[in-house]
Amino acid sequence: MEEQNYIRQLRQIMQVRKRGEVPLAFVHTYGCQQNVADSEKIKGMLVQMGFSFTQTPEDADFILFNTCAVREHAEDRVFGNVGALKNIKRRHPSLIIALCGCMMEQEHVAQRIHDSYPFVSLLFGTHQICQFPKLLFTCVTDDRRVFVRGGEEQDRTIAEGLPTYRDGKVKAWLTIMYGCNNFCSYCIVPYVRGRERSRTPQAVLAEFQELVAAGYKDITLLGQNVNSYGKNNGCGVNFAQLLQMLDKTPGDYRIRFMTSHPKDCTHELLDTMANGKHIAHHLHLPFQSGNDRVLKEMNRHYNRSQYLELVSYAKKVMPDLSLTSDVIVGFPGETYEEFCDTLSLIQEVDFTSLFTFIYSPREGTRAAKMPDPVSAEEKSRWFRQLCDTQEQIAAQRCAAAVGTVQRVLVEGRNAKTGLLTGRTGGNIIVDFPGNEDLCGTFQQVRITHARNWILTGELLP
Ligand code: SF4
Repeated sequence: MEEQNYIRQLRQIMQVRKRGEVPLAFVHTYGCQQNVADSEKIKGMLVQMGFSFTQTPEDADFILFNTCAVREHAEDRVFGNVGALKNIKRRHPSLIIALCGCMMEQEHVAQRIHDSYPFVSLLFGTHQICQFPKLLFTCVTDDRRVFVRGGEEQDRTIAEGLPTYRDGKVKAWLTIMYGCNNFCSYCIVPYVRGRERSRTPQAVLAEFQELVAAGYKDITLLGQNVNSYGKNNGCGVNFAQLLQMLDKTPGDYRIRFMTSHPKDCTHELLDTMANGKHIAHHLHLPFQSGNDRVLKEMNRHYNRSQYLELVSYAKKVMPDLSLTSDVIVGFPGETYEEFCDTLSLIQEVDFTSLFTFIYSPREGTRAAKMPDPVSAEEKSRWFRQLCDTQEQIAAQRCAAAVGTVQRVLVEGRNAKTGLLTGRTGGNIIVDFPGNEDLCGTFQQVRITHARNWILTGELLP
């Protein structure tokens, strides 16, 4: 394979450059789990090129920022952090600085990097991850800047078999599909990650079985809208059916998935979760707003009552279900009364936790052109009100868990408390005293205390 050839040559080049010492890479990932999964693939290729990893940019021979475009704040941070690399490059001229990810798919961003950050040698978009060895090779051997982005129209294939360097030994991410067709009016993702492309069920199953065989215990299936799985590749397997296939794999593990779009979340999927052997009773189902007019403006294709019907069915078939969601506060044109519908929805549903965001305009989206008369201060007040309400709900839910026995997957040690820490199937953190050799195992823990959204307990024999 062509890429393997580039990898082999880069390995030799770096060995010569480093005079036999191991070259070091610093990889920093911004944004969502999809970006984390992409970085794991890039790190897998770097390992094949002979790199080890460092947490210190000053020590690195190669620095990569895998960026996120979802919010303006995250983009500002990237520009700030890239700017800070200038001095490192001055002290270490052979350092290669590279940028990739969703943010780099935007033309105005790539142009700004090109014009204002001349020490960035390599920039590539979300469609070029599998070409990374070739791009890096060109950058190193031609000694020139390489900027490549876009290209989805030419290439809708999914590269299989890329090496993966996973950050953990207990939890793993498994991408089942790429892109999004939904064009929610506030969201940049369809523009920067392209249209939906599903991996084949055979490829997903093979990787899943490898992960289980390697001892991973908590495997999260990833996609911008996993409920659309299979609609675009003619494989004849929908997401619920894919879950049923994976769930048959023998072993002691949990399956999670994200993100689900309510418009494609079916009773078949909820029944599959309820009847599955390994599928966590945790559903991340973003509702974004509790008001029908705002939902329509967001182009979400469901209304409040449809969302509540789904939740009610999900709770009926899974009484222990843990629901989490994403909410946007201050969408353009949203009034306080409309925001109050969001507040009442979170009270009605009783979420375990929420990912709450103040609306952030994204250039090129429909919502960015809508009139937005509410001030930032006012939106911040609404946001605080939302967070306070959810904190009370979460505290009540946690308090109600005291006295129950939970099955906890032990992930490691809490550096602050010295206790072991792990998660329930509902993704709630539980800390308890115990021996480190329990890491990576499931344990029965009786909950003795609740503190905000963290539970503390004692190990049962
Ligand atoms: S479903 Fe909507 S919010 Fe989610 S990635 Fe697609 S466009 Fe963005």
